[in-house]
This record gives sequence, structure tokens and C-alpha cells, in this order.
Amino acid sequence: MNVRGRFAPTPSGRMHLGNLLAALLAWLDARSSGGELVLRIEDLDTQRTSAEFAQQLMDDLRWLGLDWDEGGLEPDYMQSRRTAYYEEAFHVLEEKGLIYPCYCTRSERMAASAPHRDDGAVVYSGKCFHLTESERAVLERQGRRPAWRARCPDLSVTVEDGNCGTYTENLAHDCGDFIVRRSDGVFAYQLAVVVDDALMGVNHVVRGRDLLCSAPRQAWLHEVLGYEPPRFFHTPLLLAPDGRRLAKRDHDLDMGTLRERYTAEELTGLLAYYAGLLDKSQSAQAKELISLFSWTKVPKNDVVVCTP
Ligand code: GLU
Repeated sequence: MNVRGRFAPTPSGRMHLGNLLAALLAWLDARSSGGELVLRIEDLDTQRTSAEFAQQLMDDLRWLGLDWDEGGLEPDYMQSRRTAYYEEAFHVLEEKGLIYPCYCTRSERMAASAPHRDDGAVVYSGKCFHLTESERAVLERQGRRPAWRARCPDLSVTVEDGNCGTYTENLAHDCGDFIVRRSDGVFAYQLAVVVDDALMGVNHVVRGRDLLCSAPRQAWLHEVLGYEPPRFFHTPLLLAPDGRRLAKRDHDLDMGTLRERYTAEELTGLLAYYAGLLDKSQSAQAKELISLFSWTKVPKNDVVVCTP
């Protein structure tokens, strides 16, 4: 089967070194097997994202020599324009009795959740699942607008990650009922990403390891919606020398600064070094890395960066 990958950035700021590593690996994964790459703009949260950031991001990818076959700022590849597809999937879940309204406010949600998981997320207790019709009616009359949660079964889901190996979660215990639609009506990432990957024919999902814990619930959603789950490949996260994970707020390592400090070839070489494809950081073009690429070389753990 031909590889069909995707890069799915959220245009909420300039990309940082970690985003670039995921982008480079998604590109190499597709290009090294003669596959295709889709660029999907994950702008569900219209308050935090913008077309300007998306434009900038595409310019930054091109500058690095990373191209794509479909997508970008075209309506059908922008999550903000794909609501009708998410509605459909939402109704399928509704018909299957797999979602329920949750009226918890943020503080109620925290109180009704088990201690933090390793990734900092909390496991919701399922409190609102047990509401009776009349209790729901009372909350509706108070003007409370519910979010919608998927009801997770007591089911262990194993993902054979192409980089990190076997990863298993029991959905009910380790993940908990998760939000598929927010109380303001906006569809949540977990639902949108599954619908998009399925409808866009994506069979390789390459992205940062911070999303590994989303893979079991996404694989499950694929199954219940009647789709074939993609193969997942989670890439190492880049850590600052003090152990902190790089984030968009770390402007010192965002594309604005990086483009001032490095040439495209220098930056590509640095990323290739972090990706285990080069022994040392030396100038390289993205296309020169295609023949060097193999998932066996890519680190399984986080990588500490020490950019000068
Ligand atoms: N939009 C997400 C991000 O920028 C990535 C989602 C995904 O790759 O599944 O972090």
C-alpha cells in the first residue's frame, strides 16, 4: 500500500524546532517510500489560530525544502471549514450511544477526575454519564450548555507504533471519557483528527511523542466509525537544556530566530542530527536525507538540544 502521510500543524504561532523535526520526519517517511504527503491546517480553534500563521508556516516549510502534494490553505484541508464532516461522525457516535452531554464546569471537571496521568491530563470520572433525563433538563433550564464526551469502554487498545514500539492503554481506566465537542459547539481535536485522517486517506501518522497517549483513543474512534486506523509513528520530543519541552512560547527556538541564525541547509542538518540520520550536525538538503532515512535510526526517547 502506498504511504499517504500528513503534516497537521496548528497555526497558532511560529513553528519551533520540535515541530520542524516532526515535519521533516513526516516528509522523509512519505518521500523515502515514494508516498504522498498532505498538509492539513488544524485551525479548529479560530480564536488561537490564523491564516497568517498558516501562510508563514507554509513559507517556513518550503524554505526548508519540505513540500506537500495536497492541502495548505484550501478550504477542504482546513479544519475550520470541515464542520459538516465532523457533524456526520458525531451523529454516528450519537446513534451508537457512544456519546453523552457533560455539563461540568472546569472546576467540577477537575473535582470529578482522577489524579493526573503521566502526560498531565486528567481521567474524567464519567459523572455526567450517570445523570438522569430530569437532572439534564434542570441543568439545561439553568442555561448550561454541555460539552459532549465519548463513553470509553473497559477495553485495552494496543498501538504498534512504528517508532516507539508497543503502546497500550485501557480506555476506561487510563484515558477516561473524552471530549469530542466543546460546549461552544466547536468539535474537539480527537474527533476531527480521526475524521480527517480517515477521509483524507492517510495511512501513516507521523507526529510528536506528546500525542502518543492520544493514539489508542484515536485508533478506537477509527474502529467505531468504521474506518481503518492508520499506522502511527511518534517522533522524539526536543527538550531545552534545562529539561523543559520546547513550546511555541520559547521564541528563542522558533522559526523566526532560527531563520536568522541558520541557513536552510544548516538547520536541516541539525534536525537530521537530532533525528539520528547524521553523526554530527552538518549542512544537508532535505532531499539528500531521503536515502539515509530509516525509522531504526530515529531515537525513541526525548532529545536534549543545545543550540548555540
Ligand atoms: N495539530 C497538532 C499540533 O500541531 C498535531 C496533531 C496531529 O498530528 O495529530 O500539535
